[in-house]
Amino acid sequence: MAPKNEPSFRQSVDMMFNRAVALMDLPPGLEEKIRVCNATYTVRFGVRLRGQIQTFVGYRSVHSEHMEPVKGGIRYAMSVNQDEVEALAALMTYKCALVEAPFGGSKGGLCIDPRQYEEHELEQITRRFAYELAKRDLINPSQNVPAPDMGTGEREMAWIADQYARMNTTDINARACVTGKPLNAGGIHGRVEATGRGVQYALQEFFRDRVGVGKSGLDGKLDGKRVIVQGLGNVGYHAAKFLSEEDGCVITGIIERDGALVSDEGLDVEAVHNWIVKHGGVTGFPDGTFVAEGAKVLEEPCDILIPAAMEGVINLANADRIKAPLIIEAANGPVTAGADEILRKKGCVIIPDMYANAGGVTVSYFEWVKNLSHIRFGRMQRRQEEARHQLVIDELERLDRYLGDAWSMTPQFKEKYLRGADELELVRSGLDDTMRIAYQAMRDVWHERGDVEDLRTAAYLVSIDRVAKSYRAKGL
Ligand code: GLU
Repeated sequence: MAPKNEPSFRQSVDMMFNRAVALMDLPPGLEEKIRVCNATYTVRFGVRLRGQIQTFVGYRSVHSEHMEPVKGGIRYAMSVNQDEVEALAALMTYKCALVEAPFGGSKGGLCIDPRQYEEHELEQITRRFAYELAKRDLINPSQNVPAPDMGTGEREMAWIADQYARMNTTDINARACVTGKPLNAGGIHGRVEATGRGVQYALQEFFRDRVGVGKSGLDGKLDGKRVIVQGLGNVGYHAAKFLSEEDGCVITGIIERDGALVSDEGLDVEAVHNWIVKHGGVTGFPDGTFVAEGAKVLEEPCDILIPAAMEGVINLANADRIKAPLIIEAANGPVTAGADEILRKKGCVIIPDMYANAGGVTVSYFEWVKNLSHIRFGRMQRRQEEARHQLVIDELERLDRYLGDAWSMTPQFKEKYLRGADELELVRSGLDDTMRIAYQAMRDVWHERGDVEDLRTAAYLVSIDRVAKSYRAKGL
């Protein structure tokens, strides 16, 4: 968390917004309308647990309804508060606009340490929270669609979906009331990995932008880059796994709650992940060197730093010691407005949260569409696609026979070409396309406008312009 002398998370988001909006030509009234959070609902409810009533405090904030439903996760953490939920809701508005997910921005949170409760207790608490939100249309397929965030996952989303269905027994679209559900409860392949996968696609696209890579002072490809990841939760784990297993990155540091691991040769992400699942932290992991003061590892030299846990971890207290030339914000708000300025002046390139972690909401969008269409992606066309490919293969085989030794098909070409895409492949393809197009929109603003220094400002410019256009179309 950011030190006390820094603005709050929401103020920090507003400062970044203001910096961008100063470069635009919006009527001041509209500027204000976009910046402010429309409403935040606070609920206090009691649940009888272990023989006594415990009171919980939860929030659902709606930042912008220029498009509906509004979208955003529900976080379970002790640090949840109104300021944080509002900052996160605002980021959801800009994130959805940037990746062209047709939603407004929202976010929810419950002040709770989920590790202190048994599964059946968490179910009781989640169902009660969902009830409170659903009865005010703060969970609703056409108005407000939550998703997982820190401290929540598929299990909680399944309870929420079921709670909504119990309260709306005739709603044929009930499953679309929440995303990030398990497959058997209306989820979609690839949602769990989506945010980490999006981070990978974002980096791949960044490394296709030679001018951008040049601005960071890095060179070459993603292959061989040295990476430090902070937080090996769902997002950090998947990002680190894909980058090391598929793109040739070397994970030289992993920072967790109880300390950090560093290794020049690179850490085995899967092994570290399994260790954390079993032992609750990285302490005692047999490979690499353990560093008790984990946060110090943020300051170690590396090519790419991936903060993937909390907001405010890179702040006024450590920004000037950060050495990474490239930071990709897999978490929401990991760099405070003050730190952002220091890093910018040092020439560090930051791939901003609203773009970098948008993979989650992008695949949530696909899941919502799947729920509303009541059919899995690829079901109609897969075999037809395979049949058409078979026609080409038949012709190639005829040619192969005719040409004898002079020519033959490349090994495995036939199998690869014949196989029609399943839902997971379609989801990944849709996500990759989304991440590329959104990057290109930011990139053009970054490189072509002389007054835009950084990718974050470029991202805000693209998003705010889109939100403003929606408001204008509504007559505002
Ligand atoms: N909680 C995630 C985020 O911050 C996902 C939101 C969603 O899928 O609606 O983007």
